[in-house]
Amino acid sequence: MTPRPPTTAGAVLTIDLGAICDNWRTLCSMLGGAACAAVVKADAYGLGARQVAPALCRAGCRHFFVAHLDEAIVLRPALPGDAAIYVLHGAHPGAEADCAAHGLVPVLNSLPQLAAWQKLGVMQGKALPAILQVDTGMARLGLSADELAQVAAVPAVLQGIDLQFVMSHLAAAEEQQNPLNRRQLASFHAALARLPPARASLANSSGVFLGSDYHFDLARPGAALYGVAPVAGQANPMRAAIRLQGKVIQTRTIESGTAVGYSHTWTATRRTRIATVAVGYADGYLRSLSNRGHAVCDGIRLPLVGNVSMDTLTLDATDVPEGRIGEGTLVDLADPLNDVDAIAARAGTIGYEILTSLGTRYARNYVEPAPMR
Ligand SMILES: *Cc1c(COP(=O)(O)O)cnc(C)c1O
Repeated sequence: MTPRPPTTAGAVLTIDLGAICDNWRTLCSMLGGAACAAVVKADAYGLGARQVAPALCRAGCRHFFVAHLDEAIVLRPALPGDAAIYVLHGAHPGAEADCAAHGLVPVLNSLPQLAAWQKLGVMQGKALPAILQVDTGMARLGLSADELAQVAAVPAVLQGIDLQFVMSHLAAAEEQQNPLNRRQLASFHAALARLPPARASLANSSGVFLGSDYHFDLARPGAALYGVAPVAGQANPMRAAIRLQGKVIQTRTIESGTAVGYSHTWTATRRTRIATVAVGYADGYLRSLSNRGHAVCDGIRLPLVGNVSMDTLTLDATDVPEGRIGEGTLVDLADPLNDVDAIAARAGTIGYEILTSLGTRYARNYVEPAPMR
């Protein structure tokens, strides 16, 4: 992605690497003896894996998770050799040698993946590192109960594999009272008891907040690093990691009764100053925020009026004093006071989707962490 200067871009996305590192340290401090990984899949939830992962590595993180093998191959040169990169989707048939050649650790999700990884190790004459995933109630990835029974019956299928961790994934950890959490925990303990002794990993961001029973040897937070609230219905202890400032490209005053934007979904009921901002749904400002979102200028809340277009959105800027908003003014579309969770709630989605939708047309401005004292 070519960085664009703020003068030519329609918006500035500031990514606070210091906040992300602080969030990682906050999670570390909750984990006691367990290690804290960083999940940097989907380009670090849209914030830039090539910037985020090295910053976390400098802060002390040594375990990184991505989803796709391609993501891991791109990330590998950005991290030192002693930082492990795990591939959640595993090595697909035919990709095992590539995975090993790049020094990546697959999460083995099925018996065929396990067999292929073992075979490669035999061919190369060395035990290759891997994580083994067991399904404990998400029915998405990992060994089923039947497959686990087969591994337990024939432990030789694990022979020659350098088993780094056994892991599973929680389906509803952000809901602390959901009985599914306890059920998955019990099912994970039962699976561990049937496998050779190995370190274990269960908790995502929200799982860290379920308490030490869920911590095991390695936690795998993603969203909380990037400021998403880890516990539903509770104050968010994480620092916001982004600020999005959209550029006003035109203002106009319309008379009462004038409709705005595609399909005329909003009509002025007073003389109104409209500010058009160069951010639209193509930039990840979701169309479901039409007539629901807002921006902030000079501390004043500007309601989003009309439908969000592909490249623009329109604000009611009537309350901003004359001369304080015009072509080139930057207005806040997301900031610590109007964070990704608040925006997500208005858009009918989750903070994760707001982050991973962030577009590629922004001028991206990375704020480095303050030097450690
Ligand atoms: C995405 C993912 C995580 C991180 O989850 P967060 O809720 O973002 O903390 C951890 N483990 C697995 C298997 C994942 O797919």
